[in-house]
Amino acid sequence: MEKNQKPKIFTVLKIVAPIMLILGVVLIILGTAVFPLTWGSSSVAPNAALFAPGMIIAFLSIPCFFIAFMPNINKTMIKTAKYIKEDNKEDLTDLADTTADITSGAISKTTRAVKKGLTDTKYCRHCGKQIEADSKFCKHCGNEQ
Ligand SMILES: [Zn+2]
Repeated sequence: MEKNQKPKIFTVLKIVAPIMLILGVVLIILGTAVFPLTWGSSSVAPNAALFAPGMIIAFLSIPCFFIAFMPNINKTMIKTAKYIKEDNKEDLTDLADTTADITSGAISKTTRAVKKGLTDTKYCRHCGKQIEADSKFCKHCGNEQ
């Protein structure tokens, strides 16, 4: 049932949305056309009564259009994505490999740096401050290690 109902809504919207847009545009045009007639008079009601609902209907037709054509947009997007994927398989694989190489390179570099940072320092026997592992004298207190 659901499979049959869904396309019906989209079909109805495909008819309703253009009608709404046309009606909205007609009301806007009529509202604008009536405007000079009411210019100078105390009443602005005739053009506002046509123009305002025209604008609302025209604007409401936009989401209706979007919803109505959403399945088509989805299909096109999936098709395009598939096409891009199939057509550029080698390039995408290369790109993925390169990215993986860069990432693994960065990780190993970072690991090495962290290791170096952790292993290449020691603490002074006299003052307890952190100094380089191979230093013979403490740069803080000057005592021999
Ligand atoms: Zn020291």
